[in-house]
Amino acid sequence: MTERIEARSSTIGGGLTIRRALPNTRRRMVGAWCFLDHAGPLDFPPGDGLRVGPHPHIGLQTFTWLIEGAVVHRDSLGNEEVITPGQVNLMTAGSGISHSEDSVPPAHGKPSGSTSRLHAVQLWIALPDAERHRAPSFRNHPQLPLIESGGFSVRVLAGSVFGHTSPAEVFSPLVGLDLLAKRPGRLALPVSNSFEHAALVLEGEAQVAGETLAPGTLLYVGPGRDSIDISCDSAARLIVIGGTPFREEILLWWNFVARTPAEIQQATHEWNAGQRFGSVHGSPSAPLVAPDPAGLHLRADAAKPAST
Ligand code: MN
Repeated sequence: MTERIEARSSTIGGGLTIRRALPNTRRRMVGAWCFLDHAGPLDFPPGDGLRVGPHPHIGLQTFTWLIEGAVVHRDSLGNEEVITPGQVNLMTAGSGISHSEDSVPPAHGKPSGSTSRLHAVQLWIALPDAERHRAPSFRNHPQLPLIESGGFSVRVLAGSVFGHTSPAEVFSPLVGLDLLAKRPGRLALPVSNSFEHAALVLEGEAQVAGETLAPGTLLYVGPGRDSIDISCDSAARLIVIGGTPFREEILLWWNFVARTPAEIQQATHEWNAGQRFGSVHGSPSAPLVAPDPAGLHLRADAAKPAST
């Protein structure tokens, strides 16, 4: 079973327009993956860039896959880490953390009018109930397994494929892959029979499970397969995510993943009061204000478009 789902455009910090593929009205999750933004590729005007000021998270992991550009992550644990192309930043929010993400200005020596480029995918992974109150942590992963198969370079971002496993620590069975072809390619991607999957083309055009995809369309692929056919007629890049269908009902509001409106209301109150989430030092961007969740009980399945 496959299902084509159109991503929608949304705006995040710095006026950056992104394509949001998850959550959507058709599919809220794919395995534990509960959020998927595709940003770029784009060139910011000189002096401009991604600017997402300090904001909190609970109950999830933020998973950043950077393809082009440079973004500095700062968090309330004191981490300050520049992510560069080919790396994953994985932040486990657990009981609560705050962070900021800002484009790194063009290097010294470059013309002052230099633009800054960005191409990235940001995902969230919902933590299962037994793990969602764990202590927060952050890891940058510069080394991820790379396998060549069928004309594709397959980067293992999370989970395992072809016997290679990503070092990224996750808390439910899932997989995340980046597939890059510089010329025509054809691959039967081995997958876990119990996983559901989704594919999103980031550049070019590709055929996935018989469907032709371009950027902006997410293809959901249901469980019960041992492989997914992927091909392209010219250069293309896509990501494939998957996991065991997540059996817990989650509540996703702004930057929080919880189970009850009371948890969201408490986190909102504590963030806006300067409690619980520590502080982020050094970000040039102003902290974000959590929106009032008063209407949350009316739209318990809603995801606020302003999430980052
Ligand atoms: Mn964030």
